[in-house]
Amino acid sequence: MGVKMIKAIALLSGGLDSTLSTKLILEQGVEVEAVNFLTLFCNCTPRGKTCLVSKSAAAKLGIKLKVFEVSREYLEIVKNPKHGYGRNMNPCLDCRIFMFRRAGQYMRETGASFLITGEVLGERPMSQRREAMRIIEKESGLEGLILRPLSAKLLNPTIPEKEGLVNRKKLLAMKGRSRRPQIELAEQLDINDYPCPAGGCLLTDPGFAGRIRDLKDHRPDFTLDDIQLLKIGRHFRLGPNTKLVVGRNEEENSRLENLAKDGDLRFYPTEIKGPTGIVRGVLGKNHILIVSRIIARYSDGNLDEELEIGYNRISENKIEHMVTSPIKEAELSILRI
Ligand code: SF4
Repeated sequence: MGVKMIKAIALLSGGLDSTLSTKLILEQGVEVEAVNFLTLFCNCTPRGKTCLVSKSAAAKLGIKLKVFEVSREYLEIVKNPKHGYGRNMNPCLDCRIFMFRRAGQYMRETGASFLITGEVLGERPMSQRREAMRIIEKESGLEGLILRPLSAKLLNPTIPEKEGLVNRKKLLAMKGRSRRPQIELAEQLDINDYPCPAGGCLLTDPGFAGRIRDLKDHRPDFTLDDIQLLKIGRHFRLGPNTKLVVGRNEEENSRLENLAKDGDLRFYPTEIKGPTGIVRGVLGKNHILIVSRIIARYSDGNLDEELEIGYNRISENKIEHMVTSPIKEAELSILRI
């Protein structure tokens, strides 16, 4: 009979910390498989595609990568996080608990013995404080099973350390926000950093957070379709139940057209180039004029001239028109989200 291989599951974002942690455990002779979680809020991953950053990191490490698309379940966490939000709309504690739970399930399904993460004590204010790490472990039902190789010597020994599955002496004692130790270790281990080109998590972006806050205030039961719409264009609040999104370029205009649903209204200039606007919600008579003026404002015409704006309900052929002059900046800024 062959010797049973010790196996671990790494939460691999592909950033430096998770790559280094995985490498340290691979070097101890443990078999590692990586998992990565995709949501609509990942800024660097086109919909339905594997995160390229984690993919490159897994390939470089020579390990298997399992990707979970979890947008639908994750949306409920974003709407109502038990532990609240960070500086923007990032529910980091709940997010980590959720991801660990899923990774823990996978660990059990695959016969792995523990999880590895790249967390460094004190590196992130919300989720990497000692107390936060304890809450995350407890609430994900994984006490003693999350190994953080970069900070392990500063933390209580985990089950795999106590059982001798990994050698604690070879683990590290990094802490704090300085990246210097990680960069030095990466050089020693010949590891490249693959930072996410667009900065990772949209929920930490102040502009996006403002839009999602507005959505949550006005439509608490928002859906993934609403989130898709938040990711593009200029956003305007016209009333408690009425919102306008205006494309900023041709690509956004055609994406908006694709995202529009039955019941939404589409606005566009009929005679010159300009944006597509999609109105979602209840449309009053006054809204048609305001939206037409906003579309005129972002069209290619002269800001003092009147323009014809066409509009129709999605899935209806009947097109109506409004001739109007562009809205003034002072009025517009009150409506901007
Ligand atoms: S930054 Fe975003 S992805 Fe990362 S833990 Fe926080 S909410 Fe989750």
